[in-house]
Amino acid sequence: MVSGGAGYIGSHVVKRLVEAGRPVVVMDNETTGHRETVGAVEELTGWRVPYITGDVGDGEAVRRTVEEYRVGAVMHFAAKSVVAESVRNPEVYFTENVAKGIAFFRTLCEAGVRRIVLSSTAAVYGNPERVPIPEDHPVRPINPYGASKIMLEQVLGWLETTFPIRWVALRYFNAAGADPSGRLGERHDPETHLIPIVLQAVLGQRERMTVFGTDYGTPDGTCIRDYIHVLDLADAHLLALAALEGGHPSGVFNVGTGRGHSVLEVIRVAEEVSGRTVPVEYGARRPGDPPVLVADGSRLRELGWKPRYGLWDIVASAWAWHSGDVGDAPRRV
Ligand code: UDP
Repeated sequence: MVSGGAGYIGSHVVKRLVEAGRPVVVMDNETTGHRETVGAVEELTGWRVPYITGDVGDGEAVRRTVEEYRVGAVMHFAAKSVVAESVRNPEVYFTENVAKGIAFFRTLCEAGVRRIVLSSTAAVYGNPERVPIPEDHPVRPINPYGASKIMLEQVLGWLETTFPIRWVALRYFNAAGADPSGRLGERHDPETHLIPIVLQAVLGQRERMTVFGTDYGTPDGTCIRDYIHVLDLADAHLLALAALEGGHPSGVFNVGTGRGHSVLEVIRVAEEVSGRTVPVEYGARRPGDPPVLVADGSRLRELGWKPRYGLWDIVASAWAWHSGDVGDAPRRV
């Protein structure tokens, strides 16, 4: 079962699972997910994907789904994930992500699910003491979103002492890019992430984009992030599940390439890919942005994972999605 399978990362993982021949059922409450996305996965793969409109906090719906589809493993994406919103409304994040997540895990454990892969985040590290960041770096989130995810990781750890489950938490760095078909991609409202914002500015969908801070202690003065292609991220989920099925113990893994790119580098690549100029203004720092976030991704590489895509592929695939430039591919949804 994939919770949140109609969302950005969830839908790419559903597609990979289907392509790998693994039966999947999606559960999504459609607050931020879009059902058509799963329809696009069905069209692209030629397979029907059972879909339940439901909330992970609805124990009855979850139990029924686990029984009906004989679910043995769950990938849990369903969550709220806008950092600024979490700062404005912390209680919403602790209710939606933590309280509902705990209820979900408890129902899964009682219904006999044995493997759980949790969508976690580099936001658990807060302002890191050192980069690249290894998994044993202290976790000191600086916003409720990051706090909600570390709590869920801890809950899984404690549930494992009571139930015969094993789990993996994947701490994503900056997920970006899109399926090359141009039919699945990132669609947040409001959009806060750099790559979609840059491309929207290129397309004239916003007047300009603002570079948040040019006075950081980095080579060009702008923040550095570890951008990871959503397809590489999807592979990491399949690998994590396979590892659990092969007897690997529970644990946390960073998902990042180990390479950082500045905001100005992203803008330059977007100009190369699109052949157009990005309308840019230079503004103040955005509160809460650490200067550099780069993963030490060696633990996941030891499991056999290797990122296949770099920044250019990420931006090019996102461009195909945002510009609707999909060649012969079917209409985007
Ligand atoms: N950023 C920016 N302008 C924007 C959005 C983001 O300069 O309109 C910068 C932001 O300050 C950060 C980087 O781009 O350094 C990545 O931001 P994003 O929100 O995509 O991911 P985050 O690292 O905050 O999770």
